[in-house]
Amino acid sequence: MTVTWTQHRFSGGVLALSVANTVVHRDDADLTFDRFEDRGEIARFAEAANVYCADELGGRSLSVSPSAAVAAKIIALREATDRLFRHVAGKGVLETDHLSEFMLAAAKALEGHDDTVSPDRPFGSPETPLAFEAGVALSALSLLQQDRLRRIRICRNCAWLFLDRSRNASRLWCDMAVCGNRQKAKRHYRRQMAEKGG
Ligand SMILES: [Zn+2]
Repeated sequence: MTVTWTQHRFSGGVLALSVANTVVHRDDADLTFDRFEDRGEIARFAEAANVYCADELGGRSLSVSPSAAVAAKIIALREATDRLFRHVAGKGVLETDHLSEFMLAAAKALEGHDDTVSPDRPFGSPETPLAFEAGVALSALSLLQQDRLRRIRICRNCAWLFLDRSRNASRLWCDMAVCGNRQKAKRHYRRQMAEKGG
């Protein structure tokens, strides 16, 4: 079954967190699954990221090599990204073991691309495509800035990671229109059941 890569699936707010969120329901062993299990989805995700992450990427497009070695780098980086930033969001601290695993995975994703980036163009020049795994690494590394670390959250409904860009840094859900409403519906349902039962 192919995945429809809707805007909602980019609610992480930055490319690297939306990649981390391609494993859904990480908090629930019964529900969790990997949308990249079919490796063909990585290229389809990248195509959608070119649209939904265009601002972050400075208009540079992402290209995906279909090789198994590249897929393995992407998955290793995705898992290291999730471990590092989920811990930051939950506990407020970086674990140096997580950081070491993450830096190694990011290094492997950046290795051998012979590319350049700059303060004005953190993802490089849009004239040529950027390797997907390098783009994910650059996006993930950008989260290490203090002001961003403080704004990484875990959605209270679906356990996705997201960067909270709200003015008072108080967002509870990755996507108000989806997860915010589901939480409200759940509360409403529980209240109704309680009234019936009482
Ligand atoms: Zn959510």
